[in-house]
Amino acid sequence: MVKEKSAIFIIFGGSGDLAHRKLYPSLFRLYKSGFLKDHFAVIGTARRPWSDDYFRETVITSLKDYFDDDEDVMKEFAKHFYYQSHDVNDSEHYIALKNLAAKLDDQFDCGHNRVYYMAIAPRFFGTVAEHINSEGLKTSGYNRLVIEKPFGRDLDSACELNGNISKAFPEDDIYRIDHYLGKEMVQDIPHIRANNPTFEKAMNNKYVSNIQVTLAESLGVEDRGGYYETAGVLRDMVQNHIMQIIGAVASDEPDATDAKVIHQHKCDLFGSLKELTPEQVDKSFVRGQYDTDKLGEKKSYREEDKVASDSEIETFTAGKIEFESKRWSGVPFYVRSGKRLPDKQSRVDIVFNDKVADLGIRANTVVTLLIEQIDGQSILINGINYKDSGQDFIKFPEEAEFNHAREAYESLIIDILSGNRVHFTLWDELRSTWKYIDTIRERWDSQTPEFPNYISGTMGPDAAEMLLERDGNTWIWD
Ligand code: NAD
Repeated sequence: MVKEKSAIFIIFGGSGDLAHRKLYPSLFRLYKSGFLKDHFAVIGTARRPWSDDYFRETVITSLKDYFDDDEDVMKEFAKHFYYQSHDVNDSEHYIALKNLAAKLDDQFDCGHNRVYYMAIAPRFFGTVAEHINSEGLKTSGYNRLVIEKPFGRDLDSACELNGNISKAFPEDDIYRIDHYLGKEMVQDIPHIRANNPTFEKAMNNKYVSNIQVTLAESLGVEDRGGYYETAGVLRDMVQNHIMQIIGAVASDEPDATDAKVIHQHKCDLFGSLKELTPEQVDKSFVRGQYDTDKLGEKKSYREEDKVASDSEIETFTAGKIEFESKRWSGVPFYVRSGKRLPDKQSRVDIVFNDKVADLGIRANTVVTLLIEQIDGQSILINGINYKDSGQDFIKFPEEAEFNHAREAYESLIIDILSGNRVHFTLWDELRSTWKYIDTIRERWDSQTPEFPNYISGTMGPDAAEMLLERDGNTWIWD
C-alpha cells in the first residue's frame, strides 16, 4: 500500500539539467503512484527571474520528453511548483525562501517537513547549507539535506565540505546521493546473497578467485568536457560508484536490515582497503584516454569542447583493489570504467575457483550481475550451475529477467521522504575511499601519461588486459 508523503522540496538549481532530467520526472512518477498527492510543494530556486507560471511550463516541457500522459495531469502536478529567484550568497533571498516555504506549508499542509536538494554546483553546497541554518529555514518537522556528487575532489576538499555542511546539519539528516545505490539491482545484491545460503557461503577468499566490476560507456564526454577536465574517470566513477557497488557485493552480513549495521559493515570493508605504495599504483592501476575511432571520424578526447589540447585527464581506468580482511584478503577486485568503449555495460562478475565444487557449485563458475541494461531494465544472469540437491541455492532460471521499473532517483526520493538512509553514503565511507583514491591520483599527477592511448570503440589500452593476465586471470566481459 502506497502511503502518501508530505514535504516541501526546496531545489537549489531548480532550472538546471539534473532537476529537469532526473528530479522532476521522478517526482512526477511519485505523484502518479500516489507517494506524492496533495501535501507537497516544490520550490525551484535559481538566479534567473522566472515567474511561477514560466517555471511550471519548463517543468511540463521536460515531463513531455519522458511521459505521454494527458497534459491536464501534468498541469495538476505542476500546480504544486513555485519559483523563487535566488542567489546563493544573498541572505535576504533565504528569508524570502523561508517565508514562501512557510506559506506553502500552510496551503498544502506539509507537516513542516523540508527536503533541501542541492542540484547546484558543488562549490555552493557549503554556502547554501550554512545559510539554511543561519537564516533559520529549519522547521519543527524534519529537515533533510540532499547532496549530489561530487562530494569533494580529494580527501582534503571532501573534509572541508563535510566540515561546512556538518556545522549546519547533523550527519543523520544528510543524504549523500550516489545514484548507483538507487539502482534496484545494486539494492538487490545483498538480498540475493542473503537469500541464497550456498552462494553466500561461497562469498569469501576460500571460494572466490576474483571479482570484477565494470562500468563502461560507449559515449565520449559529449558536452561535459569542462566538468570532465576537473574530474577524470577515477574521481567520477571509481571513488564513488564502483566502491559502492563493491560495498554491496562484499560487505559482511548482507541480511542486516538496520541502516547503522549495514553502514558499519561497509565502513569496515572500506577501512580494510589495502593501501598502495606509489610503485604498487604503477603495477595495479592503468589509465587511458580515448583517441579517435578506427575510421578517424570521432573526436579524440583532446578535441572535445572545453578540453585542453594537451589534457592529461584519464577517460579510462582499470585497476586491482585488494582488502585486508578475513573474508577477502588475497582476492583481487578488478575494476574498470571508461568512455568510448564498445558498449554500455554496468556489471559485476564474480569468478569462483575450483574449490567451490565442494559446496555443490560447478568449479570455476561465474555469476554475472548486470546492473543496468537497455531502457533502465536490469537483468541478472545466473551463471551458477548447482546440484539438484542444492535446494537452497539460487533458484532463478538461467537468465532471469528482473523487472526493475523504478528509476534510481525515484527510489532514492522515496527513501529521503521515509528517512531511510541505507542507500546513501556516509562520511566515514567517503573518507576511506578518498584516501585510497588520492594515493593513485597523487602518483599519476607526478607522472606524464602517454595519451591518447586507446582507440574509441575498443576495450581501452592493452595494459588493462595485461593487468589480469599477470595474475593468470582474464576479464569476463571482453
Ligand atoms: P546545471 O548547470 O544544469 O544547473 C545548475 C543550477 O544552479 C542552475 O539552475 C543555475 O541557475 C543554478 N545556479 C548557478 N549559479 C547559481 C547561483 N550563484 N545562485 C543560485 N543558483 C545558481 O547543473 P546540473 O547538471 O543540473 O548539476 C547540478 C548538480 O548536480 C552538480 O553538483 C552536479 O555535479 C550534480 N550532478 C548532475 C548530474 C546531471 O546528470 N546533470 C548528475 C550527477 C550529479
